[in-house]
Amino acid sequence: MTNAEIVARAAAWDVPVFARFPVAFVRGEGCRVWDADGKRYLDFFAGLAVNNLGHCHPAVVEAIRTQAGRLLHVSNYYHNEPAGALAELLCRHTFAERAFLCNSGAEANEAAMKLVRRWGADHGGGRYEILATVGSFHGRTFGTLTATGQEKYHRGFLPLLPGVRLVPFDDLAAMTAAVRDETVAIMVEPIQGEGGVVVPRPDYLPGLRALADRRKLLLVFDEIQTGLGRTGRLFAHEHAGVTPDVMTIAKALGGGTPIGAMVTTAALAAVLTPGSHGTTFGGNPLAAAAAVAAVQAIADPALLAHARSVGDHLKAQLERLKVRHASIREVRGVGLMLAAELDRPGAPVVSRCLERGLLVNCTAERVLRFLPPLVITADEIDEGIAVLDEAFAA
Ligand code: PLP
Repeated sequence: MTNAEIVARAAAWDVPVFARFPVAFVRGEGCRVWDADGKRYLDFFAGLAVNNLGHCHPAVVEAIRTQAGRLLHVSNYYHNEPAGALAELLCRHTFAERAFLCNSGAEANEAAMKLVRRWGADHGGGRYEILATVGSFHGRTFGTLTATGQEKYHRGFLPLLPGVRLVPFDDLAAMTAAVRDETVAIMVEPIQGEGGVVVPRPDYLPGLRALADRRKLLLVFDEIQTGLGRTGRLFAHEHAGVTPDVMTIAKALGGGTPIGAMVTTAALAAVLTPGSHGTTFGGNPLAAAAAVAAVQAIADPALLAHARSVGDHLKAQLERLKVRHASIREVRGVGLMLAAELDRPGAPVVSRCLERGLLVNCTAERVLRFLPPLVITADEIDEGIAVLDEAFAA
């Protein structure tokens, strides 16, 4: 099928929730993808921070092939080996001691929200309120949508979940003042992603940790976008030198397969007793096997060092573009989670890049977001920068 045929079929049959570009991809390798008409693209988008290892990483493909020939699914009434291996791997690489496996970021956050509520009910004196932040993005389920501090996603879906309140991001005084008798947890992204790659001040996450400790609150870090090497460390909170009580992971976790996880301490995990939470596909052997291969590859210190080094290169190149193009107001971000904020909507630049074979994303209307695979090379970055330069000039 051609691009046009695939696009026309989607227009006829899909629920129209996605404003898609009229392009259909059929193949990917490393930092390149090919559309149905055979055109090649350089990927600075990585499936929105999913393809951190690039497309079709050999270790992930091999793990999927092997597992697909062995066992695709068993119920959570039984154990399976890849799920256990993944839970152990996630805990060994983080502060956590227990992992709950699910299928997406929203589901991981939903699990985190249920965990903190349950802990509040059983051990926190009946406290239930979760403080989240303005500008955040935590998902599209009713719970996570409520914690998502962007009104545009709420429109038409009211009323949302009670007991979730939004507080300005990167404002320790506001968060401190917001804590009430019923507050049980604070939930934040270490860097707001969809909100426009908003990097908080260095004392923000340590300040939230201290506040949580002082007021006996649970601290939840949503590392769904920032995690798994995206910022040049395995998890973004490592830059701040503090750990949360609960962390959510998804996106890059499965190396391109749909999977999420909520990880926490053994003591906190114990409040989610058998039957209190669950999901049919959580820990599905196929996705878990892919995730084991993906996490092992991403946790390689050499890859993380590479991500930091090419991230610095991309940032420097974006700074150079800023000097050449007055519409770029600010360049910001950490590792390979970078952004250029414009003084105007970014959509026309994104379209011009697409025409020229470069995939980039625009979020928060004026923020071009760059999330290339961690395996990208300096030469590929320079190639993308040349396209961006042209797209800005056009
Ligand atoms: N949390 C963050 C920080 C995200 O960036 C996203 C998705 O963009 C989500 C949660 C939701 O993840 P999913 O789309 O897998 O439900």
